[in-house]
Order: sequence, then structure tokens, then C-alpha cells
Amino acid sequence: MRLTILGNSGPYPAPGGACSGYLVESDSGNTRVILDLGTGSLSNLLRFMPVHAITGIVVSHLHFDHMSDLLPMHYALQFDPPSTPLRIYAPQQPESLSKLLKGPATEVLPNDGCFNIGEMSISCALMRHPLPSSAIRIDCDGASLVYTGDTNTAPNLTTFCQNADILLADAGLSEADYREDAPHLSAALCGQLAKNAVTKRLLLTHLNPKYSPETLLQEARAFFPNAEIAKLLEIYSV
Ligand SMILES: [Zn+2]
Ligand SMILES: [Zn+2]
Repeated sequence: MRLTILGNSGPYPAPGGACSGYLVESDSGNTRVILDLGTGSLSNLLRFMPVHAITGIVVSHLHFDHMSDLLPMHYALQFDPPSTPLRIYAPQQPESLSKLLKGPATEVLPNDGCFNIGEMSISCALMRHPLPSSAIRIDCDGASLVYTGDTNTAPNLTTFCQNADILLADAGLSEADYREDAPHLSAALCGQLAKNAVTKRLLLTHLNPKYSPETLLQEARAFFPNAEIAKLLEIYSV
């Protein structure tokens, strides 16, 4: 698979940046799935491909920094429609926001469960966040990618990430600001997670513009020396 970082900020974009958005493509190029489409990530998607080329969208949760670009995405799809309606998987809560995102082929993201989009097998697991939020795992082409979505520690998180080739993890907090009841992991906890789950790579994402990425990287590397920052517009081989 190939992973392209369309947005790596949260909960608001860095200058010239974009919030959570990730394009995952199968080796054949026949399956192209977007994980989250936060502020600014639609514009970045269009640097790489037109919207009609997308096979499906999976939204981890309905906080604005993960789904706000789905609203103009519906306009884009009217002008550049795919041959079959684009499948969009999103949680149903909160209902007021879920209603706004409804398209011709919107489906409910299962809290815990699996489904397929094209060649990709996709699993979800409910995490710990103020809104229902799922971690998402994609298995395809003999490789696996796990995206934590937004979450603090959760009992099933390590198992869900086990042996992933790439772990894309919510490093929304530095160690100094982390609390047990916070909505995000710290960069240090991302490092511990990658170590405990024996993942091949760790990409830190959901970077809060108030922190220096270098600080987050150092905190994660104390536990997982190969930790990297998920770099905006970078393409990673999974
Ligand atoms: Zn977020
Ligand atoms: Zn969130």
C-alpha cells in the first residue's frame, strides 16, 4: 500500500497546514481510501488526484478537525462524480453532525467490526475520546496500517495495533500536558504503544501547532527510537 499525508495537524491547522487526512492506496491503484478529511485536507488531496478517483472514505469520529472537509467534498462530488456513489463510513453520533454528512452512499461506521472497500479489509475498534471515535486498521497487499484516530489509552489499543507495518498515532499532547482523562495520547505514550505492539514504524500525527514537532519526536523516541513525524504531503510505502 501507499500512504499519503494530506493533513497532520489537530485540533486546528498549522500555518499553511491541514488537519487529519490520510490517503491509502492499494499497490494495484484500484482501491483508494481516505481516512478522515479534516480542515484543508481536501485541497491537498486534489494535488494528487481528482475526487472521482476515490473509492471510499472512513471517518474516525465527528470532531471538525477530522471531518469538516467532507462538507465541500459533497460539492466536489457533484461536479466530478465517481461512476458509482462514493461510500462514506462515518459514526452516527452526534446526530446533528451526522445528518450534515449524509450522501447517497453514507454508511454507519461499526463501533467494533470489519468491512471491505475494494481490495482492503478494514477493521474498527472503539477508543476513548469525548465522542465515539474509532481506531482503523487496513490490511491489504500483505501489509497493515493502523490509524489510532483520536484517543487516550484504551484497553484494546495495543492488541489492535499489534505488528502493524505503520502505526499512525495521535500525538496530540506533550508529556507535560498529558492527563489520565485527556482526549489524546502523549507522544511518549505513542512511543510506548509502538514498542508494546511491536510495530515496524511509528508516525506521529495530530500535531498541535503549539508544540515543536522536535519535542514530540524526542518524547516518542525515548521509547521507540525510530519514531518519525508524519510529514505533510509525504508518501510512505506500507
Ligand atoms: Zn482531533
Ligand atoms: Zn477528536
